[in-house]
Amino acid sequence: MTRQEFIKMCSLLGISIPFQSVLAACKSNNINSETTFEGKVLIIGAGAAGLTAGYLLNQKGIEFQILEASSVYGGRMKINTEFVDFPIPLGAEWLHVERGIFDEIINNSSVQNTIETTPYDPDNDYALFEGQQVSLGDLGFDIDQKFINASWYDFFAQYIVPSIQDKIIFNQLVDTINYSDENILVTTENEEFTADKVIITTPVKLLQNGLISFTPQLPENKLNAINNVTVWDGFKAFIEFSEKFYPAAVGFNIIPESAGQKLYYDASYGQNSDRHILGLFTVGTGTLPYRNLSDSELIDYMLEELDGIFNNQASSNYIKHISQNWNNEPFAKGAYVSDQEDWRRIRTLGESVDNKLFFAGTVYTTGEDWSSVHTAARSAIRTINEIT
Ligand SMILES: Cc1cc2nc3c(=O)[nH]c(=O)nc-3n(C[C@H](O)[C@H](O)[C@H](O)COP(=O)(O)OP(=O)(O)OC[C@H]3O[C@@H](n4cnc5c(N)ncnc54)[C@H](O)[C@@H]3O)c2cc1C
Repeated sequence: MTRQEFIKMCSLLGISIPFQSVLAACKSNNINSETTFEGKVLIIGAGAAGLTAGYLLNQKGIEFQILEASSVYGGRMKINTEFVDFPIPLGAEWLHVERGIFDEIINNSSVQNTIETTPYDPDNDYALFEGQQVSLGDLGFDIDQKFINASWYDFFAQYIVPSIQDKIIFNQLVDTINYSDENILVTTENEEFTADKVIITTPVKLLQNGLISFTPQLPENKLNAINNVTVWDGFKAFIEFSEKFYPAAVGFNIIPESAGQKLYYDASYGQNSDRHILGLFTVGTGTLPYRNLSDSELIDYMLEELDGIFNNQASSNYIKHISQNWNNEPFAKGAYVSDQEDWRRIRTLGESVDNKLFFAGTVYTTGEDWSSVHTAARSAIRTINEIT
């Protein structure tokens, strides 16, 4: 069963809320407050999963460190704060689940979450480009809720990172993990670390590329799952225009559906701003026309495409643009695992090894849902429950 089939199954059961929410309704986690674990945990990666895992360990008073390959935290929640007067999400942009996820992650009823989001109206805000014209229609997938003058990154920066900042060690690219002894040995280019448990949150594409070598080798079923999941390529761009001439979101049919997704959308939607920013989100084969172009070729291509769709209104209103090619990010090398992947492979990805190696992250889940920030956070909650 693929994720899409799982979604259909949930709808057949009579649950008719947006599909990401259906999945969330099918499964949500709570953190156990009790712990019997005494020992040290090493977390590899400071994205949504690694930060959530560290935050929860900190709440429980368990010793831990986070080793992060880059010089910043956030991973695929990366933002740009210089382009315009609200944060531009270069990776994760929408909230695909109920707002209760914020409290689920914060796990402290005395903390009031002030991050705001706004829903879309699928009947009026969604359009489809088909037959050379834009008309109101089903995008084929839900984008659910947009953050208002904030982002997933800001949520983590505000509520999760402050209590654990001093436990994140930056510029530590983990390249070997030896779990043959009781004490696990983790090495980076210039340092060694030991721990009783290790939580791996690196994007699965990097494991496919053999970035980390394991001793002993990971079990056969785990290696098969790692090597056989389809990781979609990922590309985003943002263009500022002097006028708004486009609807809230325009979807494009990618054929076959399993090959990817493409969307032009109003990135200023719901923001307290009078700037007009159009976003391009594309994954899988949808990225092909864009991701190998130079910057000037890219903007020429996009303006020509948009002029064709919106009656020549793009070139005449163009101000500036930025883009993000996720295939070129050294510690991601792609966007995320295809929505239509086989859920059994995903479940295998999420399983722990020898009660020593634990996998948390957007795709290391139980197989019900994957490839979003909330799935990364929930997999971290599940992992911390399992360890402690
Ligand atoms: C273009 C795009 C659009 C998206 N849109 C949405 C959206 O709208 N809504 C949504 O919910 N999700 C969206 N996502 C998915 C979401 O961004 C991810 O699912 C989530 O951020 C992944 O979190 P993570 O912790 O699993 O992994 P990551 O964020 O990738 O974090 C892993 C961390 O590990 C570090 N690392 C990697 N290798 C090593 C190593 N060897 N040693 C040490 N550190 C290492 C990396 O630098 C990184 O910081 C989008 C993603 C992309 C790319």
